[in-house]
Amino acid sequence: MDKKKRAESAPNAFRLPFWYWLLIPAAIWLAQIVADASRTNLLAYSEFKQLLHAGRITDARLAQDTITGMLKPDQLEAVLGGEAAKRLKCPPQGQCHFQTVRVADPSLVQELEASNVHFLGELKTDWVGYLLTWVIPLLLLYLMFKGAGGRSGISPGSLFGIGKSTARVYAQSTTGVSFEDIAGIDEAKGELMEIVEFLKNPDRYRRLGGKIPKGVLIVGAPGTGKTLLAKAVAGEAGVPFFSISGSEFVEMFVGVGAARVRDLFAQAAEKAPAIIFIDELDALGRARGVGGALSGYNEQEQTLNQLLVEMDGFDTNNGVIILAATNRPEILDPALLRPGRFDRHIALDRPDLKGRQQILVVHTKKVKLATGVDLEEIAARTAGFAGAELANLVNEAALLAARQGKASVEQGDFDEAIDRLVAGLERKTRVMSPVEKRTVAYHEAGHALIAESRGHADRVAKVSIIPRGIGALGYTQQQPTEDRYLMTKSELLDRLDVFLGGRVAEEIAIGDLSTGAQNDLQLATDTARHMVTQYGMSDSLGLATFEAPSAASSTYPGMPGEGKPYSELTSQTIDAEIIRLLEAAHARVRETLTARRSLLDTLAQALMERETLDRQALNLLLKGRGDTIRRVQ
Ligand code: ADP
Ligand code: ZN
Repeated sequence: MDKKKRAESAPNAFRLPFWYWLLIPAAIWLAQIVADASRTNLLAYSEFKQLLHAGRITDARLAQDTITGMLKPDQLEAVLGGEAAKRLKCPPQGQCHFQTVRVADPSLVQELEASNVHFLGELKTDWVGYLLTWVIPLLLLYLMFKGAGGRSGISPGSLFGIGKSTARVYAQSTTGVSFEDIAGIDEAKGELMEIVEFLKNPDRYRRLGGKIPKGVLIVGAPGTGKTLLAKAVAGEAGVPFFSISGSEFVEMFVGVGAARVRDLFAQAAEKAPAIIFIDELDALGRARGVGGALSGYNEQEQTLNQLLVEMDGFDTNNGVIILAATNRPEILDPALLRPGRFDRHIALDRPDLKGRQQILVVHTKKVKLATGVDLEEIAARTAGFAGAELANLVNEAALLAARQGKASVEQGDFDEAIDRLVAGLERKTRVMSPVEKRTVAYHEAGHALIAESRGHADRVAKVSIIPRGIGALGYTQQQPTEDRYLMTKSELLDRLDVFLGGRVAEEIAIGDLSTGAQNDLQLATDTARHMVTQYGMSDSLGLATFEAPSAASSTYPGMPGEGKPYSELTSQTIDAEIIRLLEAAHARVRETLTARRSLLDTLAQALMERETLDRQALNLLLKGRGDTIRRVQ
């Protein structure tokens, strides 16, 4: 969650805000001043001197620029005259306070002595200094302890800029976000609908004994709408939203993180039904023990343990559901993903062309568009933008138009805003150039077409040139028809072909090679190696196996194992066999793609235009050419 968004999440709705605490000393101080003022009679210096000479001053405190003290109010009219005497609020007997402004008067001390006044010098009471040296430091200290460990919800760090020890619980009684504010991720919305229904009506579910997930992990790149989605679930269900960000737990005092987590769950349980949202779960849910032996039982681990304890300790039936967001699910501690914890995952991809257009529609509702603004064209020019960047784009365009005094936002403003944002984004994230886009389109079309051309390969569910995850530029998602426990040689060979499809398509259509196929080649090599060394599928080596199946062998294929149980000659034969398998696959794929070149072009073209092709779109394209799927042996 970025800073801007944090500011927008409403302050703690259930607690006294911070400034109430400052109000208390301020009120005491004010009361003292008022009380003092009502007791003290302000005298002119001349009146003071008159009273002094008349022997009415009994006591004086000489400060830097004031004199305060006591006077005897006997027969004041005689000394000061009737009017001035009436002004003084003095009891008929006894003494009363006075104050006067001190003027330069060298003979004052002598006169005081002569009149037998008891007097003393006084350092000026310096309220500002007093506050600075005593009250504020004490207050701060108090707040830090209270804010760090307790349930006050006060965060001194955010107010005074002290470090990051600020993990605070943000509570919103209503988020005001609904599913209508989110576009382009209908699948995710659909999956969360069940949770909304449950939160709206927990009793009905309880009666039926339905099983509702405790935790849902939302996975997606920054700005794809993870936080927005979580808020919308709370908004749709009309339940309070408690959120906390994992990254704020970094650099916390020991024990504070765990206390905060406990606090979060206690607060939510009190207001149930409610949503708890943990942003950047990876920051606090990183796999334990990664730091090695030195890290020991550290703060992060303690916080994570507390989270696990809390998640296990409560029952969804209470009506609290935990949503968490991360863009790095692979580094999460596996304990977090076990059943009963975050066992449901929802993936948010960067939006495709249609999705971007829908998001633009949502965000341009709030601005005045000139006629002729073409949102579809804007969407087409913003491949790789996530929702947050599109929201930013609309805002930027509106600002540009406003700066020029226009009455509405024109297409040209969007064009200029895109240019600015793309320049900024190219440095931060990847925005594909047209050449890259073409390369990725052919690459993915190659994978897809080979998968569709092979009898033993899984059907393609979705092809996309929208980057997903960190390594990939695009992806081809295959849908296995059934769970597999055994694979045949023909299936493995087809799989090799699919892996190579991307690279070969680049060779044929682009005429050059790119680095984009690195992962494919590694997977292909692994598969070939396993066929040769573990499954006995090589003609020249026969049935012998040469490697135990192990994780290491697939992670580091070709790493010379120490003390290999076979000869150097066998080792060479293995290598030769792997290469032979890969070369044979390469030739087969080349033949298929060359023969079906026009279909390859069609698919790549469609990908460049639409960015994502689902099963239905693929079917139409494959059939549209009258090109039936040919089974290749
Ligand atoms: P994340 O939590 O994934 O980093 P956010 O939910 O904070 O992303 O998104 C930031 C902003 O981007 C949102 O407040 C919203 O304005 C905009 N946004 C992101 N995704 C979408 C979407 N699918 N539809 C509409 N707006 C979106
Ligand atoms: Zn590939």
